[in-house]
Amino acid sequence: MVHFTCDLCGKDLTACGDPRYVVKIEAYPGFDPTEITEDDLDDDHMEAVSQILQRDEGGSPEDLAAPLRKGFRFDLCPACHVKFLKDPLGKESLRLFDFSKN
Ligand SMILES: [Zn+2]
Repeated sequence: MVHFTCDLCGKDLTACGDPRYVVKIEAYPGFDPTEITEDDLDDDHMEAVSQILQRDEGGSPEDLAAPLRKGFRFDLCPACHVKFLKDPLGKESLRLFDFSKN
């Protein structure tokens, strides 16, 4: 039997028999594919892009190491599913976190 827990609150969804909600998030660069020409795809361009990335000292090392495309999958209990729908990006909790930090 596959075991599921809520990725947000840790509730055991297998034991309590609550319905499980799956959230999938995909993050990738939002450039317009129609704007890519063959020139964009050759090696010189890729080198230019990496030089630009290396020049960007504003970003943290984690930012530079971030993959271009990343997918997330979460299992949520009903309560956390409702919370997610109200605030998909967690802006409320991020704001609260900032308050507690300062
Ligand atoms: Zn939960």
